[in-house]
Amino acid sequence: MKKYFKSLILFTIILTFLLTGCSSSIVTTDDEGTLKKSNVISSYEDDNNKGIANEEAKDDINKEMKVHFIDVGQADCILIESNNKFMLVDGGNNEDADRIVSYLQELGVKRLDYLIGTHPHADHIGSLDVVINKFDIGKVIMPPVSNNTKTFEDVLDAIEDKGLKITKPVVGTSYAIGDAEFIIIAPNKDYDSNLNNWSVGIKLINKDNTFILCGDAEAEAEYDIIANKIDIKADVLKANHHGSVTSNTSEFLDAVTPKYIVISSGEDNSYGHPHKEVLQEFKERGINLYRTDKQGTIVASSDGSNITWSTKPTSNFEAEKSKVESSSKVESTSKVENKEDADSKKASEKKVTYVLNTNTKKFHYDNCRSIANMSDKNKKLSEENRDKLIEEGYDACGICKP
Ligand SMILES: [Zn+2]
Ligand SMILES: [Zn+2]
Repeated sequence: MKKYFKSLILFTIILTFLLTGCSSSIVTTDDEGTLKKSNVISSYEDDNNKGIANEEAKDDINKEMKVHFIDVGQADCILIESNNKFMLVDGGNNEDADRIVSYLQELGVKRLDYLIGTHPHADHIGSLDVVINKFDIGKVIMPPVSNNTKTFEDVLDAIEDKGLKITKPVVGTSYAIGDAEFIIIAPNKDYDSNLNNWSVGIKLINKDNTFILCGDAEAEAEYDIIANKIDIKADVLKANHHGSVTSNTSEFLDAVTPKYIVISSGEDNSYGHPHKEVLQEFKERGINLYRTDKQGTIVASSDGSNITWSTKPTSNFEAEKSKVESSSKVESTSKVENKEDADSKKASEKKVTYVLNTNTKKFHYDNCRSIANMSDKNKKLSEENRDKLIEEGYDACGICKP
């Protein structure tokens, strides 16, 4: 055991070095629309020598931890409580603020000891500004990457107004939360403009029960988590990226070998999350499946050795029909509550030709002024819709806001 911790600490130090090395390059590599970036970087607090969370706590028996997968439609919002300490991982979309605040207030939450914004997409940080204003906040953990949206700026403003600092996630660092603890397992490197892969990943531990939560991490980030050699075997996995086929690789599922999987997604979302290939694989693996789109809010209670659930697992392994696949749904897309990158524009109503920069992974309207600076070898035209481009790892340009 001692040896494990020693190597973990060593690993943390090496990683800290690597990640710190990366963040300076983030500022220089991105040439488009990164106004807030310098602010983000400068407001980071170094948090490297946190060490290992209190070991004694783990020896106690019957310490209850609850994990609430709050139904916020096509978005993530997870509340963790242990011995009257609380942590919120992600905060739904902008319009979910009232729902999240009242859910927390009904539980008597006054203070969030930790607030994690896994990555700066609107369906993960949407209501964090309101949450920051309403509750007493301890540590805010967010990856060192920004997004040029009003939603993200609102969160940064709320953090600044409250005099809070952002703690950069350092893989291997662990934190105590009540009688439980969590270890940072991602991000493991600089993912440039792929915001999903920047997702903060944690392994949540309550004695013998473990949960893995990794936001919207896609295949590349999953492989990097596996490669970092921290044991990610767990009882419960929150399906990455709302059950998308671009995430939830067989390799990752092999490494976690979850008994339970929770998918946080919204009914009739425009991405078709969760995807049928993923659900099929969960089914073949005999997973006990929970879905917020079919079952609403789901609560898991861990006593340190067993996990009990607020509801039975669903037998529904049917994929959501995506409007991309099903033309009959096209009319109803204006009602779709889904907006992964949201404040920008409504998803794909018309065929538009976008100009892609294959280097910076941004997409633009063909009249965007920044195209003039783009070298021809990085330029590519595409008629694919906006959602599809985002799924492929592209981000909307901050100037023309396609
Ligand atoms: Zn998401
Ligand atoms: Zn995302």
